[in-house]
Amino acid sequence: MSAALIDGKAFAEGLRGRVGDLAAAFESAAGRKAGLAVVLVGADPASEVYVRSKGKQTVAAGMASFEHKLAADTPEAEVLALVETLNADPAVDGILVQLPLPAHIDERKVIAAINPDKDVDGFHVVNAGRLAVGLPGFVPCTPLGCLMLLKDRLGDLSGLDAVVIGRSNIVGKPMAQLLLAESCTVTVAHSRTRDLAEAVRRADIVVAAVGRPEMITADMIKPGATVIDVGINRVPGAEGKTRLVGDVAFAEVAQVAGAITPVPGGVGPMTIAVLLRNTLVAAHRNAGLALAPGAI
Ligand code: NDP
Repeated sequence: MSAALIDGKAFAEGLRGRVGDLAAAFESAAGRKAGLAVVLVGADPASEVYVRSKGKQTVAAGMASFEHKLAADTPEAEVLALVETLNADPAVDGILVQLPLPAHIDERKVIAAINPDKDVDGFHVVNAGRLAVGLPGFVPCTPLGCLMLLKDRLGDLSGLDAVVIGRSNIVGKPMAQLLLAESCTVTVAHSRTRDLAEAVRRADIVVAAVGRPEMITADMIKPGATVIDVGINRVPGAEGKTRLVGDVAFAEVAQVAGAITPVPGGVGPMTIAVLLRNTLVAAHRNAGLALAPGAI
């Protein structure tokens, strides 16, 4: 391997530490803890793991965690009513509704009901619009985490060629907007892209957010490029077990790239750390307290 390893786990740990220090200062200044409410509808095992992990890390960072677990058959109106209650609760700075929701609930309707100033996931159309026009707002956690890793590695991104593979509302599109705001020349590739290899080969920065195991191979990578692998794919492993791989063929791409994130231990740990960061920002805004620009 010649590429430098981008250690998202270590970066996320540092970020959580900084959030923890600022959360303690917030508590002294505001006379209350910053608070994150998480709503889980149903018992999807992967969602339960995420929610438990979010709760633990919220408390570890010195913030209040409010968990609302609702049965899978909870009517949509009840979920909307809970969101309204959380919108009005001054102890709640951030609201996160764990996705996916059961089929009988309209996700868009639920996200639209969240007060945009408590939308720490950054999924509300108001926050998507703020990002698009360059106004301050909440940015989805995973792409913001990717940007933090990129800036930590490369510093100024201005003028670099970036390719984002994937155009989802939660990763690909906001990632492209963030890179554009950093003055990169951005290409967004997707399932209809005619020549993916050619698009990727031009890029100094490659962000893969597809959900297809190891589809980005070494022959597609410009030597020295920085590669951020968002994909999380479970594939058959040894002895009948499964293992996690990204969208990037790590071993071979690491021979060509300048720097690369591993899976696991790259982008994954950043997501919750950024969620805590967004909650702390929301808490300062809600309490009318200043947070120094660039403090976090
Ligand atoms: P989506 O399924 O919503 O989007 C996938 C995107 O990939 C789509 O835009 C799709 O194109 C594109 N795509 C599919 N096949 C190809 C192809 N052959 N060539 C080029 N593009 C293709 O996924 P998400 O954005 O939600 O997630 C992407 C990956 O990131 C998943 O593995 C997910 O598990 C992971 N993830 C990881 C997170 C973390 O914390 N590390 C957080 C969120 C996601 P089209 O639009 O044309 O269909």
